[in-house]
Amino acid sequence: MNDFTYKEQQLWCENVPVNKIAEEVGTPFYLYSYSTLRNHFRVFTKAFADVPHIVCFAVKANSNLAVLKALIAEGGGVDIVSGGELFRALQAGVDPGKVVYSGVGKRVDEIEYALRSGILMFNVESLQELEVINLCAQDLGVKAGIALRVNPDVDPKTHPHISTGLKENKFGIDIERSLETYRQARSLQNLDIKGVSCHIGSQVTRLSPFLEALDRLSNLVRQLQEEDFDIRYVDLGGGLGITYDQEVPPHPAEYAQAIMAASRDLECTFVFEPGRVIVGNAGILVARVLYTKSNDNKNFIIVDAGMNDLVRPSLYNSFHAIRPVIEDNRKEIVADVVGPICESGDYLAKGRKIPAFQRGELMAVFSAGAYGFTMASNYNSRPRIPEVMVKDNQYYVVRKRETYADLIKHEEIPSFLINK
Ligand SMILES: *Cc1c(COP(=O)(O)O)cnc(C)c1O
Repeated sequence: MNDFTYKEQQLWCENVPVNKIAEEVGTPFYLYSYSTLRNHFRVFTKAFADVPHIVCFAVKANSNLAVLKALIAEGGGVDIVSGGELFRALQAGVDPGKVVYSGVGKRVDEIEYALRSGILMFNVESLQELEVINLCAQDLGVKAGIALRVNPDVDPKTHPHISTGLKENKFGIDIERSLETYRQARSLQNLDIKGVSCHIGSQVTRLSPFLEALDRLSNLVRQLQEEDFDIRYVDLGGGLGITYDQEVPPHPAEYAQAIMAASRDLECTFVFEPGRVIVGNAGILVARVLYTKSNDNKNFIIVDAGMNDLVRPSLYNSFHAIRPVIEDNRKEIVADVVGPICESGDYLAKGRKIPAFQRGELMAVFSAGAYGFTMASNYNSRPRIPEVMVKDNQYYVVRKRETYADLIKHEEIPSFLINK
């Protein structure tokens, strides 16, 4: 369920007509519904109400401060993958005790920042990283909470670029080797070994890969407990899929039931790191049609948003539903929806059957709340677009449109070129 709905053929976000925002803010822009965001978080956390758990929103999916603040206000923690994400989450008021730090390449300064902030734990991806975290903790005179991110070698049956739990992926420590690594971790004095973690991939639309991973993780937890490791947290990562097109992913309640049923004997606090399932369908991208053109066998709809604003179609060939903001019952055509970037790969849809958009019309690109703005760039020197959040009958610009001056803010012409 989400709060982007058509009423009398006009798209609304909660109680604000989308075209009103477009007139006032200009296009393109990202638009988030506060109510959808909050509901998605509540549905997810409520689904696990019967077990101790922390929902650590994956900041990389959407790192806008207002989005983070909205989820933190609901009791959410965060899953971070960089010092920058930690900074954002702290700015948004996160409880450091609900922060988990994932990622294969944590720098020393980032580790120190996280230690000084007092995060819950690092999900560690290699023996060398364990040693570095131990040294940093020693320097700071603290103990670092850690879990090993194990690679359970299950196929999440998703797009190869977003699968992370297969042996061939760079993530985690082989599950067969992990017991040995836990034993090695034990000799490191400044570590508090708190848990085990995994994350098998993203946009997973079936339960079986999650259950397979959980089964392997549970076996590991039992082995660790037999060896007197004090395992208190089982972090199952994120990855639950959403409906972009025709997918029918499990509802969070179904996901929760299956996980809880399969882990009755685990006396641990669960950590979840959902990203997409919370924000994906809580956001859209609104663009305006600049031109239309046709050649012998192709129609093009050229819009003012490009791959620098929303890269998922170019990067993963992913599907985003596209509809006019003001609908009528016009004929449909097959067209490519493309942006202004000088790349053939710059498209939002290819060979898509869609209404015959006209120049000047507004277009809504759905399911753009996750991995939308966070993956945006300034390619082609395009200022990044604003993010807007609606609550009830009000909208708020939660990130301003960048200006041309912003584009060159950090650049400097060296002295030898001045007066040339
Ligand atoms: C990307 C990522 C997530 C979030 O994935 P979603 O598919 O958006 O739920 C969670 N944990 C880790 C470690 C990740 O890399």
